[in-house]
Amino acid sequence: MKQRVVVLGAGFGGLELGTLLSESLGAEVQVTLIDQSDTYVLGYSKLDVMFGHATLDAVRLPYRNFVKPGVRLLRETVTAIDPATRRVTTDAGSHDCDYLVVALGADYDFAATPGLERANEFYSVAGANRLRDILPAFTRGHAVIGVCGAPYKCPPAPSECALMLHDHLLSRGVRDQCDITLVMPLPSPVPPSPETSKALLAAFAERDIKFVPQRRVSAVDAGRRVVSLDDGSEMAYDLFLGVPKHHANAVVQASGMTEAGWVPVNPRTLETKFSNVYAIGDIANTGTPKAGVFAEGAAKAVASTLVARIRGAGEGSLYAGTGSCYVEYGAGRVGRIDIDFFSGPKPSGTYNEPSVALRADKERFGASRRARWFGL
Ligand SMILES: Cc1cc2nc3c(=O)[nH]c(=O)nc-3n(C[C@H](O)[C@H](O)[C@H](O)COP(=O)(O)OP(=O)(O)OC[C@H]3O[C@@H](n4cnc5c(N)ncnc54)[C@H](O)[C@@H]3O)c2cc1C
Repeated sequence: MKQRVVVLGAGFGGLELGTLLSESLGAEVQVTLIDQSDTYVLGYSKLDVMFGHATLDAVRLPYRNFVKPGVRLLRETVTAIDPATRRVTTDAGSHDCDYLVVALGADYDFAATPGLERANEFYSVAGANRLRDILPAFTRGHAVIGVCGAPYKCPPAPSECALMLHDHLLSRGVRDQCDITLVMPLPSPVPPSPETSKALLAAFAERDIKFVPQRRVSAVDAGRRVVSLDDGSEMAYDLFLGVPKHHANAVVQASGMTEAGWVPVNPRTLETKFSNVYAIGDIANTGTPKAGVFAEGAAKAVASTLVARIRGAGEGSLYAGTGSCYVEYGAGRVGRIDIDFFSGPKPSGTYNEPSVALRADKERFGASRRARWFGL
């Protein structure tokens, strides 16, 4: 009988894992990839949609185009996970397997920030798409980009949002009538790369963007148009662009797999405390950033381990904890940080100055994923 692998979540981690298993094992193994949605949207496409650089239809990647030998992709919602027996329950039935990989990403905890439900956020597809229609009406006043808790996906994204908002307002000729403030709980924009943080702080200063570090938004009063910060102070706004507090999916929390909010794993092998159960991507606590490139890196390590185990030969490779993140600076220029979490005594990052050439690099990054996973 074929060995059965069930992968929960077809995001950066699940799509790459399904692709690698198909490439290595094809029909030798039965891989079931489960996702509740019918389309995938790459994280950074939300910024493009929000600022009107792309339509939602243009960035939606339909799962029907994910066609890989040995892999079936089911559109089902996971409702329960029993990691001890490796049984997954969905709205359509149940799935038992020899190997289970949880790649359900990070969810948003709106209830943690009173009032956020009624305010704007740009971290969900729906939130970014709503803002596409709201931003053109903002012509004067104070825009606050506020992070409601750490850790959060793609640490540079709130900084990118501030720089892109500056550009957006400039192009509409209303920048002089607007103030921009960025509030985040981290001490600097990208802590693992002091060089990147320095460059971003210089870019904020040049553009008159106020940066408030080590503060998180703890409540939003949309009626009074005021946010509360965690030091008890208040900040008035005319436009609020929020990053919700993140948490593990409720189903994963109920499964008993989480500790301190996330799924603990061996950071190099991605093994959970349950036999033959792995967690990759944003849901796993590896100490690396919650970003697509890192989810892909974790998928590579788990794929190599599963191939070795299923074939009964060799050892899997370890998760390298390296990745490159692009940073939108506006005006068509993109920077890049190459981050390495595990090679040295502490995480390090190399900064590549923003340029038009790196924009092309970023476009190639997106195009290669669309081609590899969706054949587009
Ligand atoms: C504004 C923004 C900009 C970003 N920019 C970048 C960037 O430039 N580079 C980068 O590398 N990363 C970026 N990211 C981060 C990146 O999108 C995530 O870190 C990445 O998607 C994580 O991959 P994942 O596989 O762990 O989870 P996800 O990609 O979130 O996938 C999880 C999947 O699980 C599914 N799912 C969830 N619950 C259930 C359920 N109960 N049943 C069935 N299916 C379910 C979801 O539908 C989803 O498809 C950005 C994120 C944001 C918000």
